[in-house]
Amino acid sequence: MTDAVPVPTNDLGRAFQEQRAELEDAALRVLRSGWYVHGPEHRAFEDELAEAVGVRHAIGVASGTDALALALIALTRGLGGEVVTAANAGGYATAAIQRAGATPRYVDVDADTLCLDTDLTLEAIGERTRAVVVTHLYGRLADVERLAAVCQERGVPLVEDVAQSIGAERGGRRAGAFGTVATFSFYPTKNLGAFGDGGAVVTDDGELAGSLRRLRQYGWQDKYVVVQPHGCNSRLDELQAALLRVRLPRVPAWNERRRAIISRYVEAAPAQLLHVLPAHEADHAGHLAVAVAADGQRDRVRDALARAGVATEVHYPVPDHLQPIAHASAGAPALPVTEHAAAHVLSLPCFAQLTDPEIEVVCGALSRL
Ligand SMILES: *Cc1c(COP(=O)(O)O)cnc(C)c1O
Repeated sequence: MTDAVPVPTNDLGRAFQEQRAELEDAALRVLRSGWYVHGPEHRAFEDELAEAVGVRHAIGVASGTDALALALIALTRGLGGEVVTAANAGGYATAAIQRAGATPRYVDVDADTLCLDTDLTLEAIGERTRAVVVTHLYGRLADVERLAAVCQERGVPLVEDVAQSIGAERGGRRAGAFGTVATFSFYPTKNLGAFGDGGAVVTDDGELAGSLRRLRQYGWQDKYVVVQPHGCNSRLDELQAALLRVRLPRVPAWNERRRAIISRYVEAAPAQLLHVLPAHEADHAGHLAVAVAADGQRDRVRDALARAGVATEVHYPVPDHLQPIAHASAGAPALPVTEHAAAHVLSLPCFAQLTDPEIEVVCGALSRL
């Protein structure tokens, strides 16, 4: 071990300190208001989020996984069928698809972006397809314009999972404004993180928005009048909404800082040994600094970085189709790019409050690999 202070992959306390006074004011305002669920903060946050994404409706829910599940339940009405998605995005879509009573149909990802491959998606869409879920993985907008066109042509709704990519934009359109519906997570480590769990669904479709508002609250039309099946309790509370309102305006600057950090790593790393996925453009929210190690080198690279005081993680080590829960009955599909990525990726420290000296430590360690 060196004397270097370890550089963490994240340190949530720093973002709190950065806006401490505003956050404490917002929390106290809610505590003193006597209104804790679906009140004025929640309504204001929904409006502000919809505006930030550039869509008509935002519906606050309790988590990103609930957001995905409710979006799929609203779209498929619990009637089964298949949902086409990637297997390398942490398993959240799979859990949501199962909750919606459908079956995941995995297709491989693009070798450069590690996001859903559009041509393979087109091949996979069939009679049983009820929706396509695309994750803008690590913060990078997927090939979402083409995916949206393909889905529209086939009459299949497109769900964007924006949990890692809030604020990413291409051609003046933001992540979440391309699909039929899009889902957000405000888990504390996301680019817009709450102080607990939270999520949201956004859409331009008024009917779908109405359905989501009912589903998140027991299927109610009005209080105690249930008009829709498969309802649940999935609410974003006043405290989280008030705190998220303090943070939402900061997302563009934080994303820019994250992109700048990733660009430094791209320059510092020896590319043949460790290929850092670039995040130079605004179509990347810089959520994670992910690098692909050369064959058989990941463990050695992680050890060397750890000795230099640099923490790393793996997002994600086990693809959905190879999880122990195994949908083996359907026969594990061959997903070579997905499987290669799971065995070669590692994530470097990346959060907006990382200090310049810490970034130097990481870059120095990368250059000495
Ligand atoms: C974090 C995450 C989710 C799930 O969000 P939760 O709020 O933790 O339920 C879904 N999809 C992706 C891509 C995520 O990164």
